[in-house]
Amino acid sequence: MGAGKVGIMGGTFDPIHYGHLVTAEAARDKFCLDKVVFVPSGNPPHKKDKPISPGVDRVNMTILATSNNPYFEVSDIELKREGYTYTVDTLKNFIKIYGEDTRFYFITGADAVMEILTWKDVSTILRLCRIVSAYRPGSDINKFVNMVDELERVSRNNVHMIEVPALALSSTEIRRRVKSGITIKYLLPDKVEKYILEKGLYR
Ligand code: NAP
Repeated sequence: MGAGKVGIMGGTFDPIHYGHLVTAEAARDKFCLDKVVFVPSGNPPHKKDKPISPGVDRVNMTILATSNNPYFEVSDIELKREGYTYTVDTLKNFIKIYGEDTRFYFITGADAVMEILTWKDVSTILRLCRIVSAYRPGSDINKFVNMVDELERVSRNNVHMIEVPALALSSTEIRRRVKSGITIKYLLPDKVEKYILEKGLYR
């Protein structure tokens, strides 16, 4: 595929939930994306002290969650990479696959974007893609606006913010509920709920 507009939905997805799915669909619609590729993170440097579920489970849950949307795909590209995984390398992989004429939109949570100036080769990231920063309603919007202003100063890149009410959900809350034996029904697709229960994740 050459040219066109591709969304890259980056996240840990431990587990994926409706907040992520609504975010990806909202970005697809708003920016007229040809597709959104979900990229479960591999071994991100900022999570080295935090336990994360095995990549294979996070990818499987992401495939189950996205299978009924023809515009969504899942890539395990970050899980195949040795060592720490950096977004800049993922973008370079995508350019190889889709070509230099393709316009990329890296979609992720606003809290992650807040840290973007600490990421490896941030100036390259900002040159290679547009950033779509999804924030929860009720978050400190001024904090995000200041960050977007700063990013605009660092580069001429477009940084977009989208408010996603469904992001009131969080993976942390879902893991906490499973651990406490509280229902997670209606917070994520049934198939993902079933997978979590069958595999005994988050207990
Ligand atoms: P995180 O710190 O686990 O998440 C930060 C916040 O954003 C959480 O509230 C999270 O909610 C939300 N979030 C995460 N991904 C989202 C998405 N796709 N859509 C909407 N909300 C999202 O962030 P992370 O998941 O580890 O990292 C996000 C992305 O940034 C990944 O692709 C990661 O590889 C990249 N990253 C790159 C570098 C680098 O290159 N050096 C450093 C840090 C992060 P939930 O917990 O509910 O998801």
